[in-house]
Amino acid sequence: MSERVKGPRAIGVSQIPDPKSQAPFALILFGSPGSGKGTQSKLLAKALGVPQISTGDMLREHVRKGNAVGTKVEAKMKAGILVKDYVVNQLVEERLAQPDAANGFILDGYPRTRAQAETLCGMLGPRGVQTVVIHLVVDYNVIIARLTGRRQCPVCGTLYNVTSKPPKVPGVCDLEGAKLIVRDDDREEVIRERLDEYEKQTRPLIDYFRETGKRLYEIDASHDNPQTVFGKIEGLIREP
Ligand code: ADP
Repeated sequence: MSERVKGPRAIGVSQIPDPKSQAPFALILFGSPGSGKGTQSKLLAKALGVPQISTGDMLREHVRKGNAVGTKVEAKMKAGILVKDYVVNQLVEERLAQPDAANGFILDGYPRTRAQAETLCGMLGPRGVQTVVIHLVVDYNVIIARLTGRRQCPVCGTLYNVTSKPPKVPGVCDLEGAKLIVRDDDREEVIRERLDEYEKQTRPLIDYFRETGKRLYEIDASHDNPQTVFGKIEGLIREP
């Protein structure tokens, strides 16, 4: 079930990012680790023709390159702790300045603190960007099962889950034949830390979104498959 939480009306088709439209548009995918933000952001980015901006992916890319940003954030990410606001704020600011973000974009994993949310408002306000927040609500036990069961191919990055999306041969990537791995921050003690960070620093942003009059939709994303959740979100944002 989805619920419209705030705002006078749903988003009309004309407000969806459109190469010809003048009004840029930000969709914030909000939710706990394991709520499916990444999956939904990818589907939405494709459907709307706008980029998915994932701070987690950007940070992992810096770590992979071993550059100054990567070195700064690596230990924190491994421990499941949020990296410093100024680091992610700068990454997002640079990314939003790219031409492909001119008409709209999907934010995945940002903002995660009040300071980040305030910085984002400061970036979007002057550009006249309309902001919509989609909050993916998922039961705690489902989140734990998703995160502890997650496996990834080290070669192509494909994600599996030992129960909900197992590979054909246990522990082996269907596409590459490579041995699947557990992401560093999907180890049990780190999962606890990530969920703790979410509860303390990120969940309270819901109040901030309400206070600042953002359009906020809550979607129950516990039991439906990704396509069904995507259908719910699409239905909401295409509603006249
Ligand atoms: P998840 O949402 O499942 O925790 P992400 O890929 O979004 O996964 O984030 C992985 C890690 O990257 C986080 O645990 C944190 O260390 C860092 N990170 C990502 N986005 C932010 C952000 N907006 N602010 C601070 N740290 C972030």
